[in-house]
Amino acid sequence: MPEGDTVWLSATNLNAALAGAVLTRCDIRVPAFATVDLTGQVVDEVVSRGKHLMMRIGEYSIHSHLKMEGSWHLYRPDSRWQRPEWQARAIIGTDDWMAVGFSLGTLEVINRSDEDQVIGHLGPDLLGPDWDASLAAERLLRDPAVPVFVAVLEQRNLAGIGNVYANELCFLSGVHPTTPIGQVDVARIVALAHRLIHANKNRSTRSTTGDLRPKKTDWVYGRKGQPCRRCGTTIRHSTLGPTPLIQREVYWCPRCQPSPENDLAG
Ligand SMILES: [Zn+2]
Repeated sequence: MPEGDTVWLSATNLNAALAGAVLTRCDIRVPAFATVDLTGQVVDEVVSRGKHLMMRIGEYSIHSHLKMEGSWHLYRPDSRWQRPEWQARAIIGTDDWMAVGFSLGTLEVINRSDEDQVIGHLGPDLLGPDWDASLAAERLLRDPAVPVFVAVLEQRNLAGIGNVYANELCFLSGVHPTTPIGQVDVARIVALAHRLIHANKNRSTRSTTGDLRPKKTDWVYGRKGQPCRRCGTTIRHSTLGPTPLIQREVYWCPRCQPSPENDLAG
């Protein structure tokens, strides 16, 4: 699942391949933008802001969000694609490279001057030049009753945390996911989030345990029913979110992460 580090690495690789080059192909396969043609223009830069990706070309920005299944691939013009063509939503080509966006959750072409309308709400970006740990902590504490798991996923508080990190952060901090954010050591959680995402930003395998072997990379995420790596207690699973309609998968060790009064399972 794409988190801030995935998007950062995609933007870094896309920027290295495309920045400064002239577009020779611009194929946006979204009805509203199908007629947009930026060929002949120069790619200025590709940047990530939280989990959003901006490809800045002249006066325009191609804004994408990977959501659950999206990814950007870079191919040489004659190489074979690793995902089927029908999943391609954007094909951005230069003489040397073809950037293909597959199954993007959001894809739009906006005026560069309107970027703030799309990403202006984001809190400090864990991987961005504007990173500000104390501002992130301040935003997290604006509503101290919100469960810690929900608060760290809210991109207005800090940008870049997805479901994997949210679960792993709770485990590594020894807090139950439903613990109100006002009752935890927020500065420590923010510092940990920053350290984890930077440790992973340059690698394709994300690990919060430090172990890169398959099925060894996470403490609790995706490990329902399996023994805790620390204490052997069976990992629990439920869903939790800011509203009944926005629910995320949550995993925890009931021993390492003692439950507050409002336990998920009662
Ligand atoms: Zn445990």
